[in-house]
Amino acid sequence: MRVLTPRPSLVGLPKPALAEALRETGLSSYRVSQVYRWLYVRGARDFDGMTDLSRRDRATLAERFSLARPCVSNARLSADGARKWLLRLADGGEVETVYIPETDRGTLCISSQIGCTLTCRFCHTGTQRLVRNLDAGEILGQIMHARDVFGEWSGRAVPLADRGRHVSNIVLMGMGEPLYNFDNVKAAMAVATDGDGLAISKRRITLSTAGVVPMMDRCGEEIGVNLAVSLHAVTDELRDELVPLNRKYPLKELMAACRRYPTASNVRRITFEYVMLAGVNDSPGEARALARLLAGIPAKVNLIPFNPWPGSPYTCSTPEVIERFVDILAAAGYTSPVRTPRGRDILAACGQLRSESRRPNARERREAEQTRDKAVLEDAR
Ligand code: SAH
Repeated sequence: MRVLTPRPSLVGLPKPALAEALRETGLSSYRVSQVYRWLYVRGARDFDGMTDLSRRDRATLAERFSLARPCVSNARLSADGARKWLLRLADGGEVETVYIPETDRGTLCISSQIGCTLTCRFCHTGTQRLVRNLDAGEILGQIMHARDVFGEWSGRAVPLADRGRHVSNIVLMGMGEPLYNFDNVKAAMAVATDGDGLAISKRRITLSTAGVVPMMDRCGEEIGVNLAVSLHAVTDELRDELVPLNRKYPLKELMAACRRYPTASNVRRITFEYVMLAGVNDSPGEARALARLLAGIPAKVNLIPFNPWPGSPYTCSTPEVIERFVDILAAAGYTSPVRTPRGRDILAACGQLRSESRRPNARERREAEQTRDKAVLEDAR
């Protein structure tokens, strides 16, 4: 009996890895570059369309490889314009990707793992049991999917001044801890930032970590994108409880790694994320302690109103308490925008992502179709 093994997808391979994968086909390095550009500049979905390759080359490629990428299993549109896509992966696993339109930019929030191993007390993703790393194609595929939706593939590599794009900025702030999946994140970001690839400037990409200290140095040196750190507490005692990873890498080590981070200059400051939990971490004393903790680091603080999820053990600080916190930080010289929750109605806001690895029932499938139709209509406008 002949066993059909799925052809490996080329999506996600950086240029050198693509050359390696295609070596057995005998394609010249010039041809490899052409394939690379078809993949990441034009977003080709099949080899047939690669019209500047010979028929024979196209047939050889199609015989051995695929261009498979994650496909949509559910699309939801928030009343505030945010979108959430549930993407189905080749093995049936699922991840969520969120798009947040703003007046001056469009930010795509991508996931790096299915689920997460960190179990931060306030985060929904941490309650998901099934966890695995996404491969580079699955990480990159999320950005490629958004380019499909907005029709943002071009014939030529787009210059770095990309303000006009729907997807102008990327944040690695979806499901998972990106620095626990370093190699795949690095490969995906290499293609995303390559001028001959997706051509997104490193300055428009931010990686958020809960503080995997040894990988933070490597992130700065080898990936070179902006860094965001999920701080959330100013004492080890509280941070141990909220972000259990702190027991392994306590505040002193975390802050030292931030001071070393190579992009930490005044032009590219590190973002410190701080979730506002009523009565837990939102006192004036904690705001002052936060300012002291950041002293000497080119930093900005991003205050995130806590986003509840079914069964979550916390509530969000009141607007007055958040305002007081902002004022204290401002007096100490730190601008601290409060992140407007987006897509709360579709559980797309920070910390609300959680994919179920099960088949949807008939009602959910119908709903999915309706929201998909709505999103398509919206796109067509
Ligand atoms: N593991 C990485 C990437 C996740 S980013 C990290 O921890 O940084 C998601 C951001 O949303 C993090 O700052 C996270 O702490 C925050 N977050 C998680 N749950 C939240 C919630 N319920 N409300 C608001 N922010 C939350």
